[in-house]
Amino acid sequence: MTPHVAPDPQTGAPDPQAGAAVKAADRAHVFHSWSAQELIDPLAVAGAEGSYFWDYDGNRYLDFASGLVFTNIGYQHPKVVAAIQRQAAELVTFAPAFAVEARSEAARLIAAHTPGDLDKIFFTNGGAEAVENAVRMARVHTGRPKVLSAYRSYHGSTSTAINLTGDPRRWASDTGSAGVVRFWAPFLYRSPFYASTEAEECARALEHLESTIAYEGPATVAAIVLETIPGTAGVMTPPPGYLAGVRELCDRYGIVFVLDEVMAGFGRTGKWFAADHFDVVPDLLTFAKGVNSGYVPLGGVAISGEIADTFATRPYPGGLTYSGHPLACAAAVATIRVMEDEKIVENAAHIGETVLGPGLRELAERHVSVGEVRGTGVFWALDLVRDRETREPLVPYNATGEANAPMAAFAAACKKGGLWPFVNMNRTHAVPPCNIPEAEVKEGLAVLDAALTVADGHTA
Ligand code: PLP
Repeated sequence: MTPHVAPDPQTGAPDPQAGAAVKAADRAHVFHSWSAQELIDPLAVAGAEGSYFWDYDGNRYLDFASGLVFTNIGYQHPKVVAAIQRQAAELVTFAPAFAVEARSEAARLIAAHTPGDLDKIFFTNGGAEAVENAVRMARVHTGRPKVLSAYRSYHGSTSTAINLTGDPRRWASDTGSAGVVRFWAPFLYRSPFYASTEAEECARALEHLESTIAYEGPATVAAIVLETIPGTAGVMTPPPGYLAGVRELCDRYGIVFVLDEVMAGFGRTGKWFAADHFDVVPDLLTFAKGVNSGYVPLGGVAISGEIADTFATRPYPGGLTYSGHPLACAAAVATIRVMEDEKIVENAAHIGETVLGPGLRELAERHVSVGEVRGTGVFWALDLVRDRETREPLVPYNATGEANAPMAAFAAACKKGGLWPFVNMNRTHAVPPCNIPEAEVKEGLAVLDAALTVADGHTA
């Protein structure tokens, strides 16, 4: 294949021929995640900057999905790109058993922002490996086999992480669930507990969790794993008191509390970690994505003093060739410094409170297809419905093909308007970068407005 020059990133000058070559090689050789390979049509991307990316045909998109909810500082931040270049020139790689400046500094900075005494950092290559290792730590620490996780969750696609996952992506790999038990976490809009207030939902969800623990046998449960605010499953902020209640149950039964902040962490909710909204400190906290805005693959587990002590004189039975890779860690150091210096977490909170949240609620008033708006910071979901009274989702759970046509039409309308949406089942999530300026949010809201008119056409 002849290499083609991509369009000039400054001008974004179109080059359809280069795009066609990129696409042809992709279709011939790249095997894509979660896809029937012959039924997909990946867009060939020529470049990206800030909140935007563009293709080879001259189309530019406002990325309201932040990639897969990871470009928390937008694309190509010059300071982070320069830090990666510097690290590549100085020490591009080194084995994990050594002390390396970029790794030491990344761990120090991450520990400075994690809540409570989560001061030791085990580095992984991404979120699923972080979850795998958190579960392993909990099992070794407690000597217990089981792990409790929530339906309506996503924890990754390696074997333990996918078994912990409570969405349909688990089903095809649901062969190794020994020790995983799922329960219902609170979600008032589609309450599993027939509750009508947040307080009722909270109390019933905690009762349900406690009886799950009792019937499983408390002495068999190593960990409870929860996304602090479930992301892909629908951005469902837990009711006041729920996470504190889970913390209490964990303490009562000697269970390790794991909060998965792979998606919600590093500014997305308008705080450094979503746990900061609820004043809870887990025993283990998993992170990835926003830690370095996804510029180089990196994830990890932040570990409490008590669990770190378990492995003070006894070896931790786990490891990875690229644990704490210098290039990824240098990107994390630069990202965290940029987030501090440019007040990016504060921007996410401000945007959520003053522009994105109010803007989405205003759209909900005018569009019958919007059943509920939920979120905080730059972490929002619109729950689209066929009927506001019955709350019947706009498309059935896990719909594909013709059954999913209304959401496909909505997504197509977004793209036609120049906005790349995050779409999952009957929901669209507004999850732009944490440093998005107000004007770009308004531009995105205007496209959503037009696309929701298309969704309205599919209501009952
Ligand atoms: N945990 C959560 C909450 C996630 O949202 C994700 C990915 O979306 C993961 C874990 C898995 O992360 P990765 O895809 O980096 O393995």
